Amino acid sequence: MAAGQLCISIDLELAWGTWDKPSAETHARCAELERTIVHSLIDRFEAREISATWAIVGKLLEEDREPAEIWYAPDLIEAVRATRCLQDIGSHSHAHPYFGETDRETLRRDLVAARAAHDRHGLPFTSFVFPRNQVAHLDLLREAGVRVYRSVDHGWHMAVRQRLGKTLGRVANLADKTFPFPPAVVEPITHDGLVELPSSMLLLGRNGLRRLVHPLVIAGKAVLGLERARLTGGLFHLWFHPSNFYYEMDRQFEALDRILDHACKLRDRGTLDVLPMSAYAN
Ligand SMILES: [Zn+2]
Repeated sequence: MAAGQLCISIDLELAWGTWDKPSAETHARCAELERTIVHSLIDRFEAREISATWAIVGKLLEEDREPAEIWYAPDLIEAVRATRCLQDIGSHSHAHPYFGETDRETLRRDLVAARAAHDRHGLPFTSFVFPRNQVAHLDLLREAGVRVYRSVDHGWHMAVRQRLGKTLGRVANLADKTFPFPPAVVEPITHDGLVELPSSMLLLGRNGLRRLVHPLVIAGKAVLGLERARLTGGLFHLWFHPSNFYYEMDRQFEALDRILDHACKLRDRGTLDVLPMSAYAN
């Protein structure tokens, strides 16, 4: 039987992720914590020989200017590139425009700029993550040379949303994130040569009400997802931003370590492969 798979994708964006609704608190946490978090992630992936996908905002590649810490981070991308275990550096657009709300010409220019920045730095442009997961204009992605993109969480709460509407969908989504229901295992879907990789689960941040969700519940859900992937030969696709570690960082890393350790145990037994998004390009 085919081994199950784990894919981890990370949206690396610093302050670009909230350019349209900046908050002093988020900026302060970004300046203080983002680099520590990225280096901690790299250490964990190196120690366990895990290749993850890092979807980067292209603007981060620009050379330092003021205020460097939260808008530009060539140092971090260099650190990801220098990881001993090869990481998949993909794109999270150039300046984080929302594909569902922006005109096509602006989006096309954004993708051209992102592609050029990747080319200048010798980085691949295979994997793509839509800003705020607004999946749209697949033809523009194809035109820019993208081969695989992440779409949205698949799961029972999405079915509720489709059938019963937004409000109940939101309630179901919260329930899904709060209780240890197993997350969905997904399959790649091909659209005219472009591969869609749905996600299974967001590693939820620990701010506001979410901190009431015990980190062991989050880790437990992911472990259920890994087990389901192992049993079905499907893919468990976990995703997050470094900002999902801005609150209660140690507890959050504890949850991540549990997930990664379980994945490594299955990998050692030959029942799970850990693959970056780019591995699905063909
Ligand atoms: Zn983003």
